[in-house]
Amino acid sequence: ARSAALAATTGPGATADGHAVPLLANIGGPQDVAAALAHGAEGVGLFRTEFLFLDRTTPPGEDEQEAAYRAVLQAFPYVVVRALDAGADKPLGFLPATGEEPNPALGERGLRMLRRHPEVLAGQLAALARAARGLPVELLVMAPMVADAAEAREFAEACRAAGVTRAGVMIEIPAAALRARDLAVEADFFSIGTNDLAQYTFAADRQVGALSRLQDPWQPAVLDLVAVTAEGAGGKACGVCGEAAGDPALACVLAGLGVTSLSMSPPSLPAVRAALAAHTLDQCRHAAIAARAAHDAATARSAAREALPALA
Ligand code: PEP
Ligand code: MG
Repeated sequence: ARSAALAATTGPGATADGHAVPLLANIGGPQDVAAALAHGAEGVGLFRTEFLFLDRTTPPGEDEQEAAYRAVLQAFPYVVVRALDAGADKPLGFLPATGEEPNPALGERGLRMLRRHPEVLAGQLAALARAARGLPVELLVMAPMVADAAEAREFAEACRAAGVTRAGVMIEIPAAALRARDLAVEADFFSIGTNDLAQYTFAADRQVGALSRLQDPWQPAVLDLVAVTAEGAGGKACGVCGEAAGDPALACVLAGLGVTSLSMSPPSLPAVRAALAAHTLDQCRHAAIAARAAHDAATARSAAREALPALA
């Protein structure tokens, strides 16, 4: 029964009772478009733009950026681009180091770095607006490492000034999750980055292998923050683009928590599509309740799977 229920499905992501959950791809650039399409991605939920900026001594010009963005934007009807996510954890040769940071994960990274170098953000946004011109694509741009509503507002204003009309924020910092209601006033959409959200929830550096137990997105504390974020979104789109979205059982739990789309590495798409198709939204909600009632990650995982018959 299990294999029959999880038979390969195609088409848009949806639960067994027809609740749509768009299934999107995490990509790093035009080189990943083919794999995303081959696995049936409905769009891109996370375009990590760092690849364009790494390993060089001068920043890519707007024309070079525009060409790379256009190659992605012309392949999909819906693309969420993340503004440059750099910092002492992902250093760039052409951005003068802000000095040694004893705690790079807690330092000037993501939007914090872009606020120090507003010309980098403005150049990126201008290139994106130009790349989308004349294409039928829905372009959304989001900022990494947003802490509060003021940062969300500032980012949305920068987007609009550049002609980008849909501006969102990644929810990666517990403060942003807890005050999602405030951020939703300023942002058009949310995308929860469960990798960093777990890191900051447990104060456990994601680069330190010895702490990997604390990086588990099944931790009930992480699920609670996802729930509070989805609720705070107040009807605005609230996706997940961290590794959690690519785990079939956890994907069902996230849908049950009110997450509206799931973005993952392309090879994970078929199994997630099948798991959603095998369960109703009600079953996903019950799995979410069971997982949040658990006291640790392992119990949350097994309780959720028990509530999802095709995965039990
Ligand atoms: C995340 O933090 O979950 C995320 C999707 O972003 P990255 O892994 O690129 O930090
Ligand atoms: Mg992140």
